Amino acid sequence: MPVGTQASIKGLRNEALEELGAEILLANTYHLYLRPGHELVRKLGGLHKFMSWDRAILTDSGGFQVFSLSELRKITDEGVRFRSHIDGSEHLLTPEKAAEIQMALGSDIAMVLDECIETPAPRNKTESALKRTTQWARRARDYFLKQQNHNGDLKQWQFGIVQGATFADLRRDSAHQLLEIDFPGYAVGGLAVGEPHELTCEMTAEVNALLPQNRPRYLMGVGKPEQIAEYVALGIDMMDCVLPTRAARHSCLYTSEGRVLIKNARYAEDQNPIDPQCTCSVCRRYSRAYLRHLFAAGEFTGAILATHHNVHFYLDIMRQIREAIEFGNLAKFSSEMRAKYAAGPA
Ligand SMILES: [Zn+2]
Repeated sequence: MPVGTQASIKGLRNEALEELGAEILLANTYHLYLRPGHELVRKLGGLHKFMSWDRAILTDSGGFQVFSLSELRKITDEGVRFRSHIDGSEHLLTPEKAAEIQMALGSDIAMVLDECIETPAPRNKTESALKRTTQWARRARDYFLKQQNHNGDLKQWQFGIVQGATFADLRRDSAHQLLEIDFPGYAVGGLAVGEPHELTCEMTAEVNALLPQNRPRYLMGVGKPEQIAEYVALGIDMMDCVLPTRAARHSCLYTSEGRVLIKNARYAEDQNPIDPQCTCSVCRRYSRAYLRHLFAAGEFTGAILATHHNVHFYLDIMRQIREAIEFGNLAKFSSEMRAKYAAGPA
């Protein structure tokens, strides 16, 4: 899922996203709640209509941004009190409020509010955050089901989020507790936040062994191009990451041969496309030399073209993974990707 923090994938028009074949994008509840406000979005017909995007939208709970961006966070069992990073105004985000905001936005998939902790986290802190996360998940689910009873038209799925930092037994406890609440899909949160990649995989495997295979399993906030097939092999169906769009704005391009840092002088006279194997409209039309020039001159078209290619590359990885699964060679595809990216940027 490409990330559209402010109901926009930075540098891409929705027409381009459609051309690229994106079926779902992620929008950030925290940002949209503060600006333009969920009630305004509701008044204007919901997020799909507001941003003119009729394919799927997943919204996060806002919790992660509250914990990472806002000031004066005070966490109690009730919720988390914080000050807006925009104007300093004070707000209280509760599990019910997070669900309500996402209903107003009208996303297709909504996430429950969870307590995010800094990593590496000590065990006792992880245990108390987990306890609260489960309580909040239950409250969010109760609120959601009550609203659904009132409003039979509510076409939204609500996902639970497995936490437990890097403690395998706590991860399993969290999964069991959420399974008891019963969600139509499950996310694995609080991973890929600085711990070694092997540990991310180990925790993901622990959790996926328990989560039902016939419901979507979503690993939040990953990943690098060479890691995506590995996560799929562990049972992950959905991922979101700012990497393809953020890296593009910083002139880093992902290609079938590894990373290309396009500002590098070696591309000054290179008339090849970014990635000779890529079929995206940018690679069919523009050269590395031109892209390099745009970035060197500070032209924002450079970022737009780079973003288009990178999002194509990521979506194409998923298409290739589906094909590899069909042909039974996912492991081979995964190790080839790792080998290409081990070499470092060109
Ligand atoms: Zn391309």
